[in-house]
Amino acid sequence: MTTRGEAEEAVKTLLGYIEKDPSREGLKDTPSRVINSWDEIFAGYRQSPGEVLSSTFNGEGYDGIVLLKDIEFHSTCEHHLQPFAGSAHVAYIPTDRIVGISKLARIVDLHSRRLQNQERITMDVADDLEEHLSPLGCAVIIEASHGCMQCRGVRKQNATMTTSSMRGVFFDKSEARSELMRLIRD
Ligand SMILES: [Zn+2]
Repeated sequence: MTTRGEAEEAVKTLLGYIEKDPSREGLKDTPSRVINSWDEIFAGYRQSPGEVLSSTFNGEGYDGIVLLKDIEFHSTCEHHLQPFAGSAHVAYIPTDRIVGISKLARIVDLHSRRLQNQERITMDVADDLEEHLSPLGCAVIIEASHGCMQCRGVRKQNATMTTSSMRGVFFDKSEARSELMRLIRD
């Protein structure tokens, strides 16, 4: 695996591709700052979904939808290393175990803080809920704007992309899906 020193050297090389003098004062500490920011925005590689979703509670018979909506997230597109950001709505219907609500936000962060595409985050969050909570159903809907489309390529500032993954009753039953959509819109 690449060391921190090698990573900083590589950033210096990239700076030399853009600027004649990559060692000028303003850029002197840029390689180390870039790697510090990478440690933060790619922290998801050091976390495991099983740990995030490990502590569950008795649902005491609750059998309705649990929805956390408008979870803002930032991620990085694996094709261009450009940011993409937006909000996620995460829902599940428990069988007997429920999870602390902040864990739904943490699981979105865990997957966002890796090199990603939006489709994979959507599926991976749904997979984790299925695997660790065995819910009656779970759903993940993500809306995001993509930097790689805003500042380069087709340059569309206002286009947003929506992805969804519906599992269990949210896939099988249109009533469950409609109820979820109503809760998200309200
Ligand atoms: Zn991209």
